[in-house]
Amino acid sequence: MDTTSFTKKSIGGVAQIEPALTPPITHAPTTFPVKPKQINVKPRSKKRDIPEGLWTKCPTCGTMIFDKELDENLKVCPKCQHHFPIGSRERIHSLVETCTFEEMDAEMSSVDVIKFAGYRGKLERDRRNTMLTDAVVTGIGKIGAHRVALGVMDFGFMGGSMGSVVGEKLTRLIERATEGGWPVVIISTSGGARMQEGVFSLMQMAKTSAALAYHARQRLPYVSVLTNNSYGGVMASYAALGDLILAEPAALIGFAGPRVIKDTTHADLPPGFQTAEFLLDHGLIDATVPRKEMKEQLMRYLDYFAAGKKN
Ligand SMILES: [Zn+2]
Repeated sequence: MDTTSFTKKSIGGVAQIEPALTPPITHAPTTFPVKPKQINVKPRSKKRDIPEGLWTKCPTCGTMIFDKELDENLKVCPKCQHHFPIGSRERIHSLVETCTFEEMDAEMSSVDVIKFAGYRGKLERDRRNTMLTDAVVTGIGKIGAHRVALGVMDFGFMGGSMGSVVGEKLTRLIERATEGGWPVVIISTSGGARMQEGVFSLMQMAKTSAALAYHARQRLPYVSVLTNNSYGGVMASYAALGDLILAEPAALIGFAGPRVIKDTTHADLPPGFQTAEFLLDHGLIDATVPRKEMKEQLMRYLDYFAAGKKN
């Protein structure tokens, strides 16, 4: 027997008639009363009322930091001194004397020389996002009383990877410093050579190193500043060649990452491996310098180099 015939029906003005048989319980009735949708009337918490993009959570201590405060503090957590990534333009602004920076080769940009799948799109995306043409900004500016050739890398542009433009811009910067008799300061942050440019990116290691050798022959100082994170072909070339090598606190620095090293050597890595502090203890770098003290310290070191040259 078709149980659907038991469904209650009402005809206008006629009293409902109960079916003669009770429908079996296992058979669900065809209609249920619609449960009213629960509307959350609880007042929204204060935290949820904070507009997105105004606060940043510190990954080290968990403090919520007002973005304006973070910007004013050079992207350093005021509570635990965690160093957030900072853009190259902001960093240059924090280091050089006002209106003294003359940028070099600002228009130079990469071409997809080995036709690497997706490379063109990534370049365009990062040009749009960072308003930069590649992963380094170079130019001549003054730090304190000293005219220096300054190169600042930006991790926001393809992970600060070194392609032919990064190598060429840095080489031209170093050569100009050699001609002008100025110190070179390069602030690195990089995942390494840019694989999308294949061997052309690897050539940059030799080219930048050779330019630094000519610079050193003129007995001119080169200060390399390593920031989080500095890896790969950049660390295997110009970043490791400084007469003075400085690093920001807790920056991760190395050639290959810890997982690759662990898998290759089958050895347990010591705690703090590849941090700036670990490398300072083991003699690879000369000092760790907090970002807010960087300008002052660079001025001190440049004074020292200049005094040494005079003597
Ligand atoms: Zn913090």
